[in-house]
Amino acid sequence: MVTEPVTLADIETAREAIRGRVLRTPMVRSNALSELAGVPVLLKLEHHQTTGSFKLRGASNAVARLDQAQKRRGVVAASTGNHGRALAYAASLEGMRATICLSRLVPSNKVEEIRRLGAEIRIVGKSQDDAQEEVERLVEQEGLIMIPPFDHAAIIAGQGTLGLEIVEDVPDVTSVLVPLSGGGLIAGVAAAVKGRAPNARIVGISMDRGAAMYASLAAGRPVLVEESESLADSLGGGIGLDNRFTFAMARALVDEVILLDEEQIAAGIVHAYREEREIVEGAAAVGIAAILAGKARLDGPTVIVLSGRNIDMNQHLKLICSESASSWPE
Ligand SMILES: *Cc1c(COP(=O)(O)O)cnc(C)c1O
Repeated sequence: MVTEPVTLADIETAREAIRGRVLRTPMVRSNALSELAGVPVLLKLEHHQTTGSFKLRGASNAVARLDQAQKRRGVVAASTGNHGRALAYAASLEGMRATICLSRLVPSNKVEEIRRLGAEIRIVGKSQDDAQEEVERLVEQEGLIMIPPFDHAAIIAGQGTLGLEIVEDVPDVTSVLVPLSGGGLIAGVAAAVKGRAPNARIVGISMDRGAAMYASLAAGRPVLVEESESLADSLGGGIGLDNRFTFAMARALVDEVILLDEEQIAAGIVHAYREEREIVEGAAAVGIAAILAGKARLDGPTVIVLSGRNIDMNQHLKLICSESASSWPE
């Protein structure tokens, strides 16, 4: 029996801490996907969360745990967009200052949303790692409190509250399909789901362009991967060579990782819109995409986490208007 750095009890405590600050999002059945997969498939509509992604759960929990002196100093983070947006919102509710460092790969719609929430923006470099260097400088030189996007116990516990809701709504769940990047979401969800339903399988899904956790699990230690642009931009970034929590938790709790290409992710976005009437970003479409591609082995009630909706609307329009999803990319 492994002792996890974030336990079911931590996640239950987080739920109390963030109550009233985040939405309890709906769970709905997908008839189209249930028919295709031959098992009940349910969608956790977390893209309806305030700020448009599950990241508000972790950010709200991390902010709630700061003491008064820390709150006066303000928070700082590097982010591919959704964590920055969530942290900016959570900080603004507390009347705190937030500084968000972004790489140039982050889409402009996401940058604008963060600015609108009152955060200071710094755009530096071409990767998550470049943005992270700026964060470390601000911590050292200006005394800001760093709230990282995934490798942080309070963040993982906050994301885990989503897992509690899954088991409450679908007690007989056998598989949970979870978008996977740095692993904060899957670590928290896996700890919560397996804490309540030990036999449920946790399946991580990443894009095949720069799947840092997949490569790290294969290597048996955190490794660097090259980043490139993807429809699933929220899945970009490494897991950190000095990863403290999410790598160990993913190794202990994740049963399988599936990789998808850009065409498959595009098909997931299109299906979400045409069949489910939901607007999701690429990162959130991977669970649907895995089923459409026939890559997920399912043997009972399955929950797909739709993790966010912050897609550039021009890009979304182009995708859903294309004759068939397979004509993407041109
Ligand atoms: C951050 C994010 C993910 C991946 O979460 P990790 O904790 O980094 O694995 C998935 N989908 C969306 C929409 C995100 O914003």
